[in-house]
Amino acid sequence: MLGLMQEWPLLCHKLIDHAARQHGEREIVSRSIEGPIVRTTYAEIHRRALRVAERLDRDGFGLGDRIATLAWNTARHIEAWYGIMGVGAIYHTLNPRLFPEQIVWIMNNAEDKAIFVDLTFMPLLEKIAGAVKSVRKVIVLTDEAHMPQTALPNVVAYEEWLDEVDCAFTWKTFDENTAAGMCYTSGTTGDPKGVLYSHRSNVLHAMIAAMPDAMGLSSRDTILPVVPMFHANAWGLGQSGPMIGARLVMPGCKMDGASIYELLDTEKVTFSAAVPTVWLMLLQYLEETGKKLPYLNRVVIGGSSCPRAITAKFQGNYDVEVIHAWGMTEMSPLGTLCTMKPGYAGLEGDARLDVQGKQGFPPFGVEMKVTDDDDKELPWDGKTFGRLKVRGPAVARAYYGGIGSEQFDEEGWFDTGDVAHIDPSGYMQITDRAKDVIKSGGEWISTIELENLAVAHPDVAEAAAIGIRHSKWGERPLLVVVRKPGREPTRADILTFMDGKVAKWWMPDDVAFVGEIPHTATGKIQKTLLRRQFSDYRLPTD
Ligand code: ADP
Repeated sequence: MLGLMQEWPLLCHKLIDHAARQHGEREIVSRSIEGPIVRTTYAEIHRRALRVAERLDRDGFGLGDRIATLAWNTARHIEAWYGIMGVGAIYHTLNPRLFPEQIVWIMNNAEDKAIFVDLTFMPLLEKIAGAVKSVRKVIVLTDEAHMPQTALPNVVAYEEWLDEVDCAFTWKTFDENTAAGMCYTSGTTGDPKGVLYSHRSNVLHAMIAAMPDAMGLSSRDTILPVVPMFHANAWGLGQSGPMIGARLVMPGCKMDGASIYELLDTEKVTFSAAVPTVWLMLLQYLEETGKKLPYLNRVVIGGSSCPRAITAKFQGNYDVEVIHAWGMTEMSPLGTLCTMKPGYAGLEGDARLDVQGKQGFPPFGVEMKVTDDDDKELPWDGKTFGRLKVRGPAVARAYYGGIGSEQFDEEGWFDTGDVAHIDPSGYMQITDRAKDVIKSGGEWISTIELENLAVAHPDVAEAAAIGIRHSKWGERPLLVVVRKPGREPTRADILTFMDGKVAKWWMPDDVAFVGEIPHTATGKIQKTLLRRQFSDYRLPTD
């Protein structure tokens, strides 16, 4: 027997319909690319998103078409997203931090038909456009007065393009499993892989993200999504925000400490989300200026492991709660968040920071397990680490074009490529990427743990641990270190500092000092390149 409840497809444009009706006057504030702060509302965004949809429809774009966006976080980018989804097309966020050749590869793989582009990225687009044949319209997110000179064909200014419609459009309707958005993983190994979100997965993810023990969002919040819409959907905030009617503050292209502080302060932001490097810049700015954060209530920090010092400073000096989070493009992206279950809620000081160093537990809608190489499930004892696998309604079940199928199994588990352990309370902690873990004598050594320990040394600016071939053990750890300016720690200083803080057999066999460690476009240590740099390295122990 079937239930007798209504079919109400979970379509993304319903989010902006709801925001306009229930929270119509709620503001969206943007630092515009042209410069000034611009204010709009959900009601206005809704009207303009409908015009985007109508205009796209009139230009012949529709169901299933991939429409690229190469843009910062602004209200216009949000309007473009909802307009694109509202005709059944697919917003495809491009990460401008990738190498131009990678962007070309991604656009050709996706066969993008049109592109919304910020003024900032016109020079980049001009450089690559010739190599992408599928694009037949370029919409520059500005008005006629700010349009740059360009030799590109089929270019229009967004505002004038929007003015050409009469606002008599209604959203298209389709199945909730229709594709809504697309984002490529940055491809630190091999070619980038396309993830294709559906309307249903986006709506469910928005609900999951907003839940009290996830980001805990409400209509009373003012949210500053520093994490870009092109980096895994701004972690869902472009959808959760309208869903719950929060005020949004969009930072545009300025993410330095002073600019972020200005928005936090003048717009009285209560909630924000970004990667650790952004928060490092902000904390440095606060220390230099002596400024405080009287309005900010909590910050989500993820994308890479959040250093303990950041959490300690936010909570100890500024009374801002830190929520450490883990996720990935393939998970829309949220996987786990480190909020406090009742057993941990009373913890203070170092005991609380110990828990907050973990990536946390998943909200309803994400299942996880850790397995060994033979797919045998490992115990939740907070020690035994293995491959982290996940499944849920906002987790990818395949990559675009069917590549990478070995990461998905018949039971629906997706192998994240991360290595982790889970404690008896269900809190997960990432210990490595599977391809980075060091396998010494058949046992695994966590490079992240070695790196976290090494950077706790006061003279170390950055550290990376990699496996070096060893005739007896298979692999042994080498610690690659960048010294802080003006400091001269020796190999012995660093090893003595680490001694006793990790198992003896985890201790690096050697320390190599370098001027710089290579990073990916999203700021992660590029271990593949580093391993190549040290491919001929001989350990003194071998
Ligand atoms: P990329 O940044 O490479 O474009 P993602 O944003 O999808 O792609 O990166 C996901 C990966 O980032 C995860 O699989 C994990 O390795 C790493 N990551 C994300 N959050 C954390 C975290 N809080 N701690 C440690 N690693 C993290």
